[in-house]
Amino acid sequence: MGHRIQDILAYLERVAPSAYQEDYDNATLICGDRNAEVKGVLCTLDCTEEVVLEAKAKGANLIVAHHPIVFRGLKSLTGKNYVERTVISAIKNDIAIFAIHTNLDHVAQGVNKRIADRLGLRETKILKPKKQTLSKLVFFVPPKDKEPVLEALFEAGAGQIGEYKDCSFQLEGMGTFTPSENANPHIGQRGIPQYEKEVRVEVILPAHLSGKVIQKMKKAHPYEEVAYYLSALENENQEVGAGMIGQLEEAMDEEAFLDYLKEKMNLQVVKHTTLRRKKVKKVALCGGAGIFLLGDAKRAQADAFVTSDVKYHEFFDAEGQIILCDIGHYESEIFTKDLLAELLSQNFPNIALYLSKVVTNPTSYR
Ligand SMILES: [Zn+2]
Repeated sequence: MGHRIQDILAYLERVAPSAYQEDYDNATLICGDRNAEVKGVLCTLDCTEEVVLEAKAKGANLIVAHHPIVFRGLKSLTGKNYVERTVISAIKNDIAIFAIHTNLDHVAQGVNKRIADRLGLRETKILKPKKQTLSKLVFFVPPKDKEPVLEALFEAGAGQIGEYKDCSFQLEGMGTFTPSENANPHIGQRGIPQYEKEVRVEVILPAHLSGKVIQKMKKAHPYEEVAYYLSALENENQEVGAGMIGQLEEAMDEEAFLDYLKEKMNLQVVKHTTLRRKKVKKVALCGGAGIFLLGDAKRAQADAFVTSDVKYHEFFDAEGQIILCDIGHYESEIFTKDLLAELLSQNFPNIALYLSKVVTNPTSYR
């Protein structure tokens, strides 16, 4: 038995948890049977009818796309527009479509890191880290029973801070409890007040994993009733968020930077604000429509901000403080399909993987 579609989705969920997508997004399995066996996977930026036919021709029954073909929902399915025709074609040909969108934008090794790598940026960081994605778990355990509980928590994804794993804080103290007549205590006796030496353990965890982490903690803990506190943190999550910022290896003249940008991102054209006659060293970027990050890029004192879908009046907002570069939505994200194929090939070396060759860019230049 080979891999099921669900195995691929579970792996991609670990890479870019769906909890990190924007509220408006639809990063999910859009059509198809998650229990079907994978015959081949086609990676693409956009999923169109032509891409579905390409998958069919290659014998692939799963399309992993960055942009969700169904974004606002479908109230009927008659083939009256390209979205419906694409979905109908996929269903008729037994091809599943999975979208991994703003969640892949928001992870540290996602879409923006791919752009940063193409531009050779160093010391990259998330430009606008997300808040309210972390929780804190505090629990109490007898010292001799501590290790297996901690192991279970770390295994479930708790205690990870940047490049450090297995992070916890521990303090010994005294716990008290009186088991009821119906209790089945691990330590102590029914109806008798008990003083027990316990360790207070604190760990940080991604909020979306809290259900799983609590379940693992309870399973590994010897007590019938585990005393714990789970609380939401306001901390910024340095690993998750929008855009990226980093440094070029060498400062460049502005014209040289724009030429470099065109070469590295394979652009025919770059639309930009007035040059400032300053060198470019610090570069902020965001694949797709990222103008909402202009303020963050300016505050971080980036010399240039590379994104797409910038409107006329938004170019004024650069205010001579930064060079705002619009490189085109397709051009900014086309390398996402290579990223997806690389991620999948690392974990599923035996699955047939294809990169879409269809040019889905709906705009052109002349
Ligand atoms: Zn996009």
